Amino acid sequence: MAIFVTGGAGYIGSHTVIELIKSGYDVVVADNFSNSKREAVKRVKELAGKDFSLYEIDVCNGKALDKIFTIHDIECVIHFAGLKAVGESVKKPLEYYKNNLNSTIALSNTMIRHGVNKIIFSSSATVYCPDNKMPLTEDSLTGGCTNPYGWTKYMCEQILTDVVNAGSGFTAVMLRYFNPIGAHESGKIGEDPQDIPNNIMPYIAQTAVGRREFLKIFGDDYDTADGTGVRDYLHVVDLAEGHVAAVKYAAQSSGGVDIINLGTGNGVSVLELVTAFEDATGVKIPREVVSRRPGDIAICYAATDKAKNLLGWETKKTLKEACADTWRWQKNNPGGYGL
Ligand code: NAD
Ligand code: UDP
Repeated sequence: MAIFVTGGAGYIGSHTVIELIKSGYDVVVADNFSNSKREAVKRVKELAGKDFSLYEIDVCNGKALDKIFTIHDIECVIHFAGLKAVGESVKKPLEYYKNNLNSTIALSNTMIRHGVNKIIFSSSATVYCPDNKMPLTEDSLTGGCTNPYGWTKYMCEQILTDVVNAGSGFTAVMLRYFNPIGAHESGKIGEDPQDIPNNIMPYIAQTAVGRREFLKIFGDDYDTADGTGVRDYLHVVDLAEGHVAAVKYAAQSSGGVDIINLGTGNGVSVLELVTAFEDATGVKIPREVVSRRPGDIAICYAATDKAKNLLGWETKKTLKEACADTWRWQKNNPGGYGL
């Protein structure tokens, strides 16, 4: 029996494959490398000390999925594959709706055809309405997304919920991630944005290594302690372990929808994050305050009780460790997997 990991060459997928193998699971990975490199998978195999099947396919392609589900005995699917750049989704909405919705539909259809009924879906805190009270619980209001990317996550959650409600016998675990940062402690795998990073941590790391001149801080006039935006940053290896816990949970579930936040439960401001990075690495980050980024909210952090109660999972790694691990990855691989 194997866990089928779509998007397993990507940032979160690659770290999760390692943790799955460490926990004794067999994995099968599919990726079209639209936002990742084969080198990442090569390094995952080295770090895990184990080979596994890798398929270069588009997960929207049902026929290609059928072949994989025929060859392998799959017990559970983790669906990471998707496009994720918020700004790009505003410029290319149809690409985002097509890729993110069609992959989820093709995968669900294939699972039904092959009698596989456990799926863990990569959702996001971005599905929550901007004006909720903090911390965000799984019952906080959703919708009102500020970009097409967020809507694709919202819609995929709805698609999977409807598949469950149609009596498919599916267990759909929707994991709403907060802000993953960090890298594997080996420094061999990490986040490797193909373009100018949207997210703050890779931007800080690329500034530290000299690929960017300075960090632009998007606003210091929010209603927060130091005026900068507050988020819930969790280490990607903790997040990967959350997926292992979700696979175990799904295995004993008799069906239904479970929506679970994965975060630390702590809010950290942009200035606190920059200071933590500087303290952990000894590298100064040049920065400038610029105007707010459209669509950003002031504060966003998770309520974590449900993850603890249902999955027995909580984060273990500190912000300092996440910063040190990010830096080890970036310093050893200044150009990411490309160099
Ligand atoms: P990533 O881009 O590093 O990984 C996604 C992988 O999916 C890439 O390797 C890409 O090549 C692949 N892919 C995309 N479309 C595909 C398709 N049609 N067929 C096959 N492969 C395809 O992103 P990530 O940061 O690892 O995120 C993984 C998932 O988690 C995504 O669905 C993302 O939306 C979600 N998520 C990420 C974050 C974050 O901050 N990184 C936060 C919340 C949710
Ligand atoms: N941010 C910033 N400069 C950047 C990127 C992000 O100041 O170059 C801020 C952003 O305004 C937010 C926080 O950092 O307050 C996290 O942003 P990110 O895009 O990483 O995550 P998200 O906003 O999607 O939670």
